[in-house]
Amino acid sequence: MKIFLMTDMEGVAGILNHDDWVLPSGRFYDQGRRLLTEEVNAAVDGLFTGGATKVVVADGHGSGGIDPEQLDPRSQLLRGWDSTAPYPFGLDATFDGIGWVGQHAKAGTPFSHLTHTGGFEVCDQRVNGLSIGEFGALALCAMELGVRSILACGEAAFTQEAETLTPGILTAAVKNGTLPDGLDALSAEDYRKAKLGALHLSPRDARQQIRSAALHAAQLLKTAPHRFSFPAMHPPYTLERFLRQRGNQPPTTIVKTHPSSLIALFNQK
Ligand SMILES: [Zn+2]
Repeated sequence: MKIFLMTDMEGVAGILNHDDWVLPSGRFYDQGRRLLTEEVNAAVDGLFTGGATKVVVADGHGSGGIDPEQLDPRSQLLRGWDSTAPYPFGLDATFDGIGWVGQHAKAGTPFSHLTHTGGFEVCDQRVNGLSIGEFGALALCAMELGVRSILACGEAAFTQEAETLTPGILTAAVKNGTLPDGLDALSAEDYRKAKLGALHLSPRDARQQIRSAALHAAQLLKTAPHRFSFPAMHPPYTLERFLRQRGNQPPTTIVKTHPSSLIALFNQK
C-alpha cells in the first residue's frame, strides 16, 4: 500500500507567522522545518503502523520545509518538478492514497491561519464554480489519477475544507485561526499580514493526533477504501482565478478551460 504525503509549512502547530518561520531569511526557519518534519514523521509512523508499505514525502513548501536528516528513514523525500507543468507534483496512479501535513486553508477562509492559495495575490480560485485552494487542486488531480484522499493534517479551517471536498477523509487539526476574513478588497501585500492570529496545540499533542489519524487512515484504506470519496466534478473543466490588487496592478480574473483533464487545466500557462 503506497501513500503520497504532500507537505507545507504554514499549517504546522507552532509556526506562528511567515516572516520568522517559513522563509529562509526568518530567524526561526530551521526550527520551523524541524516542527514540520516531526509532524511528517508522526504521519509516516502512523501510516506504516496502519499497513502502508511505502510512503513518499513531497516537500511542497515554496522554499522547502523538510529536514532530510531528521525525516523518518522509512520514507523517501521528493522535491523538484517540471517548472512548466508542476501538477500533480510527482503523484501518479501507482499510489493508493494521498495525505497532507502542514496544510493551510484556501484564501478567504475565516478563522484560518496564514490563509492563502498558492500566493497571497490569489483572492479565490474556482473549478466549474467550486472554490478550491491548494488542497483542492491536488485532490482533484488525485481524483483524475484514481488516488484517494485519505488524510488531512493542518490548521482546523483546512481540515474542514478537506472534509467538505472529500467526505470520509481522516483529519488532525493542530491549530485554530482566531481572525475573521472578508478581506477580498485588500491588496496582496496587506492580506499577507492580515491572518496571523492562531491558537496552537503543543507540538507534542499535534504529533499524537496526526499519528492517530494517519494510522486510522491507512487501516481504513486497506479495509474499507470506498469510505474515502472523490470530489464530485465532471468534464469539461473551467478554472477561474481571481487576483487581488498587487503593487500598481488592479484586480484581475484569469479563465482557463480544458475539455477532459484537470491536471492539464492546472498546468496551463
Ligand atoms: Zn501553501
